[in-house]
Amino acid sequence: MKSEILIIGGGIIGLSIARELDQRGLSGIMVVEQGYCGEQSSWAAAGMLGAQAETDEPGDMLSFCVESRSMYPELAGSLLDDTGIDIELDQKGTLYLAFDDDDAARISQRVRWQRNAGLEALTLSGPETRRTEPFVSPEVIGGALFPNDWQVDNRKLLSALRRYADLRGITVVEQTTVNSLNISNGVVTGAGTSTGEISADRTIIATGAWTSLIKIGAFPVPIAVKPIRGQMIAFRTAKRLFERVVYSTNGYMVPRADGRVLIGATSEDVGFNKDISAIATAGLIETASKIAPALGSLPVIEEWAGLRPAGPDRMPILGEFSGVRGLYVATGHYRNGILLAPRTAELIADLMIDGGRSPYLDAFSPDRFRIS
Ligand SMILES: Cc1cc2nc3c(=O)[nH]c(=O)nc-3n(C[C@H](O)[C@H](O)[C@H](O)COP(=O)(O)OP(=O)(O)OC[C@H]3O[C@@H](n4cnc5c(N)ncnc54)[C@H](O)[C@@H]3O)c2cc1C
Repeated sequence: MKSEILIIGGGIIGLSIARELDQRGLSGIMVVEQGYCGEQSSWAAAGMLGAQAETDEPGDMLSFCVESRSMYPELAGSLLDDTGIDIELDQKGTLYLAFDDDDAARISQRVRWQRNAGLEALTLSGPETRRTEPFVSPEVIGGALFPNDWQVDNRKLLSALRRYADLRGITVVEQTTVNSLNISNGVVTGAGTSTGEISADRTIIATGAWTSLIKIGAFPVPIAVKPIRGQMIAFRTAKRLFERVVYSTNGYMVPRADGRVLIGATSEDVGFNKDISAIATAGLIETASKIAPALGSLPVIEEWAGLRPAGPDRMPILGEFSGVRGLYVATGHYRNGILLAPRTAELIADLMIDGGRSPYLDAFSPDRFRIS
């Protein structure tokens, strides 16, 4: 098979890059996926766009998250126009709960540094927190509101990106595993796959947790990305009880428009294993009950697990490897790949099309792990 641009991996990152490159007028784009597109980590996610709830300090990661989050309203509108799929961008914000003085101190500190960084964040008293979300636990003593930390239905987002690819004639090859990249005189010329060879002028690795399994020629990709399992559960309430995403130190709750309430998530270093465990389910039910006691008595309607792609420093890995031409990588998005997909796609497209050198390419360069 022949392609001009080969994207390996059909998760949120690979599909978002395919769309971005198509929108910039590039052709000959092919996405190769070992299973079916959008069925791995990106499907398992909770869809939070938690730039502020998820980031612990100012810096490149915070600004990258904030920039990506701000791209969502335009992305949601454009995908609705192009595909007819509403990705349910919900802009009601995120509430962070404090159950004791330590929580309250940590939350106040987060609000303080974020306000200093020019972001909107409010500290709330216990009564204010409970007025904001009346179904949270009476044991809550305070909280913080991040009005710009939104959520999206990530499964709908994947369907929209997949439909976009079909409508625009982006070639999608599923049930095909890329085993190795072909390299000639320091230039990547395509890939060897489970169903044959694919030639390509340029290749992008967007393979999430599986990235380190690919070989460049005879050698493994020189970055260590490993899977970190996240298990989640969902309840259904007769009507929507919660307006916002609710965070706590033990876990989070994401209310969807259809009445589902998602509870997440575990963080387990157990290899490529997506089994669901009774212990994790029990722990998630406990988290739900702590956040909102009314949830604890409801039946669990769905349980699932996904593998987050975690690099050595838990930051994204974006750009080119020095010494190898025609090869780009976009992986290691760990807990924030849904949030970071639009900005990641933009950055990779800028680099591929204009050679655009964003400072993020230094901060998140794959070369930062090289020992030499
Ligand atoms: C429980 C859970 C909750 C999460 N919640 C959130 C959240 O609320 N907000 C957020 O922003 N992020 C969240 N995340 C993180 C987010 O899901 C990931 O960061 C993101 O999905 C990574 O996207 P990806 O495209 O790199 O990976 P994936 O979605 O895993 O896609 C990679 C794809 O590449 C394919 N592939 C791999 N190797 C090959 C190969 N050799 N050949 C062909 N295809 C290959 C895989 O089959 C897969 O489909 C969560 C993750 C989990 C597990």
